[in-house]
Amino acid sequence: MIIVMKMSAADADVQGVVDRIQEFGLRTHLSRGEERTIIGIIGDERPINKEMLERLEGVEKVLPVLPPYKLASRDFKAENTVISLNGTRIGDRQVVVMAGPCAVENAQQMREVARVLKDVGVTILRGGAFKPRTSPYSFQGLGREGLEILAEVGSEFGLSIVTEVTAPEDVPLVAEYADILQVGTRNMQNYALLHALGEHRRPVLLKRGIMSTLQELLMSAEYILSHGNYRVMLCERGIRTFETYTRNTFDINAIPVLKDLTHLPVIADPSHGTGKWELVGRVARAAVAAGADGLLIEVHPHPEQALSDGAQSLKPERFVALMRELRLVAEAVDRGL
Ligand code: PEP
Ligand code: MN
Repeated sequence: MIIVMKMSAADADVQGVVDRIQEFGLRTHLSRGEERTIIGIIGDERPINKEMLERLEGVEKVLPVLPPYKLASRDFKAENTVISLNGTRIGDRQVVVMAGPCAVENAQQMREVARVLKDVGVTILRGGAFKPRTSPYSFQGLGREGLEILAEVGSEFGLSIVTEVTAPEDVPLVAEYADILQVGTRNMQNYALLHALGEHRRPVLLKRGIMSTLQELLMSAEYILSHGNYRVMLCERGIRTFETYTRNTFDINAIPVLKDLTHLPVIADPSHGTGKWELVGRVARAAVAAGADGLLIEVHPHPEQALSDGAQSLKPERFVALMRELRLVAEAVDRGL
């Protein structure tokens, strides 16, 4: 349920409602809009009686939240969530690009990419240190050394860092080095990991499971939100379909659907969504046109030598050209980039 307070409600009225809800052992989430405050109930609300709440001072109405992902839903919070990160605002008017290689391989590779990002005004550097690979024989990432390289290059170039965390016990370690913690497609339903991320305060980039519905993605976001971390962004990265020409099928529908269902920022990953560098630019443009708040793009200085995902990685000069194209698309849909 959400409790919509009257425009005239005083702070004491809001507190009165919060106190009453807490008496039932439940938690609340306050959403203070320009005109009125909305109080959301977190937890099993069966013991709470709607009429009782409606009689409290300052309450205008009590409404059910129909989707099972309550905290993530637009019913619960109508305005977009904006995640501020070292001066970059994710979920606001500006489309935010995060770019870099699939995996951190060495410091020189990361510096080459960071220089390119800096030149085109990109503020977030990506790179995997812990790589969950389909084959145990593939490069698994540099682990802690990769995190150290990321943090060093990030601070040298003034870039924020996004990198994947694959296990709950690694969350504190990765959070020490990174600004955004990524949950990969293979871990979208790793509930122990989602729980650990919910108790942390670092923003989370939650990628859609390769065979997950949008509702399942939103329920995974709900795990993080319900443990207290509200800085979550969702990422469409392609799903498995019967089509095998591309590595995955980028679900363009996901972008406007998620924008309708949730207030959380929506990021598009055309690199994993296609698996082919030749397609990345065109799908990236489509995602911006469809309303994505950001893009995650793999860029490698020498894709032919990449230890992971070379086939879908853009060379720096192609990435620079794409940024110019993306700016035009963003302007056409009344966004900036
Ligand atoms: C990645 O971003 O490099 C990655 C492994 O992504 P996904 O989990 O979507 O495959
Ligand atoms: Mn990758």
